[in-house]
Amino acid sequence: MDRPCENAKQNGRVENNGSLDVTNKCRPVGVGEQLPETMEFRRDPVKGEGLFARRDISVHEPICALPYSIFMALETEKLTTTCYSCLAVTSSHIPYIKGTAQEELSLKTCTGCSQVKFCGKACQTKAWKAYHKLECRIFDLYRHNFPPMMIRAAMRVVLLKDKGLLPQQYWNALTNDVVSHEDIWKAAPENNITAMVRDIKFVTNSKLSLETITRMFWVMRTNSIELPVSVHGGIGTMLDPFFAKFNHNCDANAMLYRPWHTVESGWNLESNPKPEQRSIFATVIPLRDIKKGEELTIFYSDPTLCVKERNAKHMMNYYFECTCSRCVEDTKTATEVEDRMPVLSAQYVALAQGVLRQLEQLRADEEGGRLAYDRASQAWEDGIAQYLDFPQLYTAGDFDQISLHLAVSGLQLGTFDKALINLLRSYFLIYPSRIPGRHNYSNIHIMFVMLETFDILLGINCKDKTMEVARSADVKGSLRRLSKRGFSIQTLLYWRLRICVHLRKCLEASAAKDLLPLVARMQDRVLLHGGSEAGPEEDPFAEDAMKKYLKLSEARWKVVLNETGC
Ligand SMILES: [Zn+2]
Ligand SMILES: [Zn+2]
Ligand SMILES: [Zn+2]
Repeated sequence: MDRPCENAKQNGRVENNGSLDVTNKCRPVGVGEQLPETMEFRRDPVKGEGLFARRDISVHEPICALPYSIFMALETEKLTTTCYSCLAVTSSHIPYIKGTAQEELSLKTCTGCSQVKFCGKACQTKAWKAYHKLECRIFDLYRHNFPPMMIRAAMRVVLLKDKGLLPQQYWNALTNDVVSHEDIWKAAPENNITAMVRDIKFVTNSKLSLETITRMFWVMRTNSIELPVSVHGGIGTMLDPFFAKFNHNCDANAMLYRPWHTVESGWNLESNPKPEQRSIFATVIPLRDIKKGEELTIFYSDPTLCVKERNAKHMMNYYFECTCSRCVEDTKTATEVEDRMPVLSAQYVALAQGVLRQLEQLRADEEGGRLAYDRASQAWEDGIAQYLDFPQLYTAGDFDQISLHLAVSGLQLGTFDKALINLLRSYFLIYPSRIPGRHNYSNIHIMFVMLETFDILLGINCKDKTMEVARSADVKGSLRRLSKRGFSIQTLLYWRLRICVHLRKCLEASAAKDLLPLVARMQDRVLLHGGSEAGPEEDPFAEDAMKKYLKLSEARWKVVLNETGC
């Protein structure tokens, strides 16, 4: 049998070759370079400087592009599964989930330090010349006391600066152009920065003063963002002095997006990027159509958190209080809910906190993990039904955190039915109302993970050599529990198809079209399994089964379906 992905091409169904729409307006904006024609700086007397749309921007076009950022560091545990140069990812941190991982790519360990890996000679040479020749000896020396991510990020900048390898305009941008909140941090009671900065100066043997390195560290601390990989989520931290200029809004209209091909690498050649496309490391894409004159904003914090927690995070990490319309609205709703149903909201908070506590123990206690997981999962299942008609109670707060924890742990433990219901709840109940843009990161990620979970249950796979095979006893157990709750194989197949079609629609209505070949491949997997090309037929039984499975009332289900757009 041919690999489904090959079939996809032969059928001619993949019209988009997965390449990024790069026009002049979307050339990467380097430090000190002119802004693209889509945006301009404006100064607001209250909020300070911000970026604004110079013209109407359609949801289909990237707003701007960013070049490869040298100010970055990978999370320590991702060093073994990520190319240290092009950032190709060889395996997902979620078991069984392939996503865009390039499992067939094997990484070779750097013989100097044995701490980082490369996908090939070209990547190794490039990284060596650009930065790794400075780090390698230090990584080797400190292999047993390996520096954490933030230290490594700051260390790289210090080393490059010392050796004259950092362009002056980058150094200027870092030291003069972005906020550091240094004074506020210095006054903070607990602060181990002094020790860290001394360590950095010591191991790098830097000529820079402790004061300069301290400031650098604060700049990184204040302006770094998560380094994402297409559908995989975060793998590290990065700082782009231009991207740092985007302000936050809890109802943001833009997000950072890492195209599937990633920078200048040879991986994912399926998408066959042109050289100018390869030089694009990331883009900023709209979450909706944006009107001329609107401020371009991104999320600094998770919009599914409640307003109190969001603002605690903003204060702690960025030193500002958000006063966006979402925050005003959320505060009003929270007060109303507490006034109108004090008992119910207190009970809900107690339930969520109880389950979270149980889940935290699960992490600490590996032995008996399955049992502890089952208990937490059951408590959540039994408790949650009575609150699901009151989205104002649960859409902000711990719900999403609990769902994701239960989903990932469920996949790790092989309780796929429990993983699935929690993924479905985030997909149907949380993201549509909390995160704008159906093609937003969280939504795309959750849809990919969900489709993979469906495939494990349905026994569909892409025949990838290295794909971990789920234990059949786990799959059978999960299917039995699903069937007890009215979810037959037929129902699973129906929703697998329907969600895949929805994912394609979301991506088609976005500037993230480079993921379409991946979705086509997922659709083909089902076709080989006997699904129909036209997509799922209307099936009132399957809809009803989902409604009951999620424990939703008829009225709430209607709203949810409409909001999700599935
Ligand atoms: Zn590479
Ligand atoms: Zn090395
Ligand atoms: Zn806000």
